[in-house]
Amino acid sequence: MTDRPTDSPGAPAPILYAHRHLLGIEGLSVPEITSLLDLADSYVEQNRQADKKRSLLRGRTVINLFFENSTRTRTSFELAGKRLGADVINMSVTTSSIKKGETLIDTAMTLNAMHPDVLVVRHPDSGAVNLLSQKVDGAVINAGDGSHEHPTQALLDALTIRRRRGRLAGLLVAICGDLLHSRVARSNIHLLTTMGARVRVIAPPTLMPGAIERMGVEAFTDMRQGLQGCDIVMMLRLQTERMQGSFVPSIREYFRFYGLDYDKLGAAKPDALIMHPGPMNRGAEIDSEVADDIDRSVIREQVEMGVAVRMACLDALTRQSTSNSPLGAS
Ligand code: ASP
Repeated sequence: MTDRPTDSPGAPAPILYAHRHLLGIEGLSVPEITSLLDLADSYVEQNRQADKKRSLLRGRTVINLFFENSTRTRTSFELAGKRLGADVINMSVTTSSIKKGETLIDTAMTLNAMHPDVLVVRHPDSGAVNLLSQKVDGAVINAGDGSHEHPTQALLDALTIRRRRGRLAGLLVAICGDLLHSRVARSNIHLLTTMGARVRVIAPPTLMPGAIERMGVEAFTDMRQGLQGCDIVMMLRLQTERMQGSFVPSIREYFRFYGLDYDKLGAAKPDALIMHPGPMNRGAEIDSEVADDIDRSVIREQVEMGVAVRMACLDALTRQSTSNSPLGAS
């Protein structure tokens, strides 16, 4: 068996992603997204085998640099790197007592001196990962920057949907909850609209970004109206850590109007899939029974797809540097 999954024996699966970094979904083309999803799909089977390890990235160094908490994203990037044979280092940095700008660049320069091939970065400030990518020599993957983008989350969501429904184009997807602070929503809107899905966003007026329709979505403030006829219901966590002041009257009130329960779900298609990027606040944005519904909820599958998608991203970005191909803008 070769180290890289192949469509035909001996030939690496073609990859059309020609950028040096992965900083966001905005601006990616249909072939680029499709190519990353196809590559990720080929890693799903590998991850279900007893022997999950390959040597594709042997000798390469991946550094996970997290300035914000994470469970799923950090762990899955670590597993993805290790399953491809890379050396993976985890660095968690708390920003509470330090000047953020200085520390970010200083840290980037320090790590750069150790010649990492890939830096996976999460930061509470929108744009911070982009800034850092301009200071280092290796590839940078945005693992979530403030309320801006979380590209690998959108890719894993898309892979989950595509495997379940066989396509993205033409599906009606509702993204519900704290749209205002959500990088997951932003990346998903870019990806899904690019791939030809129709996207509705549902949020209370206080959590709905102004002029969101410019992103090519339809906006609703009523859950049942917004969910009408949807194929996919994607719930978002209330991002209390990004809220200054009060955006909802109480969790109880929020759940009553915007929490996903069977009653509201009844407005969506009978086989609509339920998604959540995690971590879930049961009883706030989603009812426990709905979250655990084995026929409708694909929340655990999203976690599984996360590892495959991150393997594909590491593979694609390190292929760029191996072939010395011209580097893309982002
Ligand atoms: N894990 C996702 C993120 O980092 C979603 C969330 O935290 O609500 O954005």
